[in-house]
Amino acid sequence: MLKSIKEWVSVKEGSTNVGIIEIDGTLYVIDTGSNTKFARELFSELGEEKKIVLNTHSHADHIQGNSFFEKNGAKIFSDKLEAVFIRNPVLESFYLYGAIPPKSLRASFYRAHSSHSLPLEEADLPKYIEPIPLVGHSFGMTGFKIDGVLFCGDAYFGREVLEKYSYPYLVDVEKFLNSLDFLEKTNADVYVPSHGNITNDPHEDIEKTRSTLHSFINATLDVLKETKSVEEISFSLAEMMNISLNSGTFYLFRSFVSAILSHLEKQKNVSQVLPGRWKKI
Ligand SMILES: [Zn+2]
Repeated sequence: MLKSIKEWVSVKEGSTNVGIIEIDGTLYVIDTGSNTKFARELFSELGEEKKIVLNTHSHADHIQGNSFFEKNGAKIFSDKLEAVFIRNPVLESFYLYGAIPPKSLRASFYRAHSSHSLPLEEADLPKYIEPIPLVGHSFGMTGFKIDGVLFCGDAYFGREVLEKYSYPYLVDVEKFLNSLDFLEKTNADVYVPSHGNITNDPHEDIEKTRSTLHSFINATLDVLKETKSVEEISFSLAEMMNISLNSGTFYLFRSFVSAILSHLEKQKNVSQVLPGRWKKI
């Protein structure tokens, strides 16, 4: 069922919230959900109008319905860097692993069906739809603002989501924090995170996202009183922060830890004292 937010704007809530904007006989669909069943259901709830998909970013749980929409005539657009990943979904698990991915990273959670995403600049969006760069969670994360409703993608997470997944995945700490600061200064009427509750006031969720990240940064400094490799740091942090990892989520977590290390190195708090081995300085 679609939840109406404003005259032109509605949301289909799910494990990934999806936005629908209707302007001048065109339906703009923000992300396509985490599985084809959800996408089919969404498609059947929409009218006959021309459909354009705008992806916030390339993670599989946001683009799993793309190929279904594409087969049914929709064009797909996203930030140009994210588009490279959406067209070549193997790159997602490739960058997590660093080489041709093993079996655990070939699951659909890490790998969507390919769809032909084009750069947003080519979308010729109506002036009412404003793309908002919210980089940090991924290379080119983009929010969309329309009629006072801000679709935030994974720029921040709802409290329950953070409690379930324990950490806010990201690839760039500094940019992620800048995006949180930016979001706090915006004055939209309604905020729609991809994972979390639709709200008029996202400050508590944003602050929880920020403080959770800081607790991982501090914990990393703590475990680096001794020299450790990225993988040893990942295991230590997972134990300290009560995160259970499997053979796939380990690589996701290692990627998050690697982003923290790059950030702490830039801040001159840690250094690679030996090749591949890190320590607090
Ligand atoms: Zn994501």
